[in-house]
Order: sequence, then C-alpha cells, then structure tokens
Amino acid sequence: MSQSRPNILFIMSDDHASHAMSCYGSRINRTPHLDRIAEGGMRFDNCFCTNSICTPSRASILTGTYNHINGVTTLATPMDNRLQTFPKLLRESGYQTAVFGKWHLGTGPRHCPSGFDDWAVLPGQGRYHNPRFLFKGPDGGEQRTLQGYVTDLITDMSLDWLKGRDKERPFCLLYHHKAPHRPWYPDEKHAGMFLNEEVPEPETLYDRYENRASAAGVARMRVGPHMDRTDLKCEVAGELPENQLRKWAYQRYIKDYLRVVASIDDNVGRVLNYLKREGLEENTLVVYTSDQGFFLGDHGWYDKRFMYEESLRMPLILRYPREVAPGSVNDDLVLNVDFAPLFLDLAGIPVPEKMQGRNPRPLLRGQTPSDWRRGMYYRYWMHRDTSHNVYSHYGIRTRRYKLIYYYADGLGQPGAMDEPCAPEWELFDLRSDPQELNNLYGDPAYKGVCSELKAELHRLQSELGDERYHKDTE
Ligand code: CA
Repeated sequence: MSQSRPNILFIMSDDHASHAMSCYGSRINRTPHLDRIAEGGMRFDNCFCTNSICTPSRASILTGTYNHINGVTTLATPMDNRLQTFPKLLRESGYQTAVFGKWHLGTGPRHCPSGFDDWAVLPGQGRYHNPRFLFKGPDGGEQRTLQGYVTDLITDMSLDWLKGRDKERPFCLLYHHKAPHRPWYPDEKHAGMFLNEEVPEPETLYDRYENRASAAGVARMRVGPHMDRTDLKCEVAGELPENQLRKWAYQRYIKDYLRVVASIDDNVGRVLNYLKREGLEENTLVVYTSDQGFFLGDHGWYDKRFMYEESLRMPLILRYPREVAPGSVNDDLVLNVDFAPLFLDLAGIPVPEKMQGRNPRPLLRGQTPSDWRRGMYYRYWMHRDTSHNVYSHYGIRTRRYKLIYYYADGLGQPGAMDEPCAPEWELFDLRSDPQELNNLYGDPAYKGVCSELKAELHRLQSELGDERYHKDTE
C-alpha cells in the first residue's frame, strides 16, 4: 500500500547553471546522464530562485518560504533547524529520509540536518579532495575525514544508503553535490578534458557595464581581475589589459568548471543505473536542480547574486513516468519555494498553509492553471559583502520584463555591509534585450509598463509579507 507513494530522489548541485547542460542547449559541454532525466521527463525553462545565493536558496527549498520569513537572508544567517521542512513531514508520514553532501545551512545542534533518518554533510563549503564530513550523531554530529573525491564520495554514501534501506517503505533521498562550486578542483579522471580546445566564449564576456545602474560596474566578480591563484590554479599572467586577461582567465576558469560538472554527470549516471537495475524507475520522482544559476563568463563574471538571467535561472529537470510525458518542456514561472509543496503533494501530504510556494503538480501533466503566477519576486540581501561587492536589491520578473530596485543598504543584516549607496532602478525588456544590456528605466516609451511593474512588485511584497525599502515611495 505505502509503495504506491512515490520515492523521491532529489539531486541538487551547487552553482550549476543550466547553460552548462546539454539538455538546455549548452554550447560548451555535454551532460549525457543529466539529459537522460530530461529526455525521460520534463525540462523547466523558467525556474527561478528567490535569492541567488547558496544558504538562502537552500532554506527556501526545504521550507517552501521566502527568506524574509525563514530568516535565512545571507550566508551569515544559518537556518534554525526547528523550522518546518518537507523532509520532516515526509518522515513523519512514514518515508525514510536522508541527506548526503552539501548542506550549508549551518552546523551545531541548532543548525545541523534535522528530519533525516541518516545524514552525512560537508561542514561549510567542504573540500573537493579528501573532504571532512559531519556524520549524524549527538550534539550536531561527529567529523571524520574521508579519502577520495567529493563527488564520488557523496554518490557512494547515497548508493550505500539506498542499498541498505527498508524496501517496504518509500524513500526521500537528498543527494546534494558540493560541485561545481568555486574553486572548481577537478578529479584526475576529468582533468584532461578540454586540454587542447578553446571553449566558446559567451557573447557578453567583454561587457563594459554601460547603460545600466552602477551596481554592475562596481561588482567584484570579474573573470580575471577578481580571481585568485586558487581559482586559476596558477599566478595571474602579468599585467595584461583587462580584455586579454578576461580571455585568458575565462579558458582557465570554464575548463575546470566543466571538468567538475562532468564528474557530477558521471556520478548521477551511476545512481540512475541503480534505479534502473532495481526496477525503481517507474515509481521514483527524480529531480535535478541547482541552488541557483551562475555566470559562466556572461557579463564578464563568475558567481551569482544578481537578479540577471544567468544567475536567477535554476536548472530544473524531473522524471516521473507515472505523470510526466517523456521529453516535455514547460515555460511557466516556477520557483524554488514551489519544490516543497510538490514533494508533499506527491506523497499525499497536505501542504501546510505557511508554505508560500505553489504546488506545480498540474504543470507536470501539461495543465497550467489559468491563474498561475505571471510575475515572481526576488530579493538579494547581502549588501556589499566583503568579497563580491554586489548591492542589495529586490525586483520583479514577468514573462517579458524585469524591474530591479537596488536599494543598496545592509539594513543590519549579518554579512551585509552597513554602508548604503544611492538607490537605483533598472528595467529590461527581455524580448528585445534578452542579455539585459540596456536599462530602459526612465525611457518615456516604457512609462506605463514601468508603473504597472512597480505596482505589481509592491503588491507581491505585501502579499508575501515583505517590507519595501523606505525610499521606495512611488
Ligand atoms: Ca550555490
């Protein structure tokens, strides 16, 4: 009876942008095993995070709430593990639950994983080679160092747990990779990829940050000048002019990034093969996503944080043969806060009212409700953190437009700088300017559009229980 409830295999990587997946049309790499998930199920082309940074996005995924509600606004605000999460509710209803790999929501008794039968997670960011893990135990767990490569080790632990599970009960496994997070250390098996090749450059690699608010120009995320020898695996090559430096550093950076992705792809293939061998494909929801997107040299950057497309968009592919037609594609606006409601609903568990995401299950069957969201709310809180210097901002994205307000104030948030800058707006028409190079804010031709977007932004803030910045008075 309980076996009619689906198993959930929730695969998440860290900082894997969808434009480095071949099922999303990547120009720079192939991901054959990840593509198996998309080919057997659905690819979501407009899945977005509500705050493009690791810890906050992970908290939104687990709790189904926005960061102003769950309190996880920056990297310096670990999640209180007493909050309600989907794994806790699944476990209470009879699921076997586990998380292996990246957690990044804090350590110690108040922040370690909770709601799992078993877990082993990396403390903080974790290391690529011979990493320490924190294993389930009293007082927040016990640390041990394992020999090997992090992506292989997380997969080994996940497979071992699957093999030892109670086969009479459904499972929910969070198989969460550290890769391809900075500093992109590949393993020996993939280190030789792309050696004698030039990886194609993104069109905006040499962006000069003109025609935009000042936030883009002051951000310290540029490929080349804002990377260190750990990122580049060598000293920066002399005093090159910036464009030459970007060109050279891009190849160093992107090749390591893609090598690290290739290891994820291989390892996901191992787990998919296990499901197939065990006859678990039919009754298992397999999800692959990442906690946010990433700039792969786009706008001359690495990293994320901005509400721009490459950083905002999360990959989301899922396979569930019982309900999802193979090879299907959805372009509705889906958010990280929607994951928890979906998992709960598939398990037959009522979605708590406090969860703010909307259950996307009708979308899986190709039936978009007529009142599905037409705009999404975003907020990045970590104003001018010491490394990246990105201004805090909030905004709205609809299918065609994006309106961003850089309120540029730390507001006392942990990890944010207490030095406000003058607020600025940006408006992009994604149909005529998909690369977001031309700020239309203040253009008389867009006055009406701009007013409507502002009204909708403020309506969303109010509906979701967030507060607008005190200078945002229109
Ligand atoms: Ca991340």
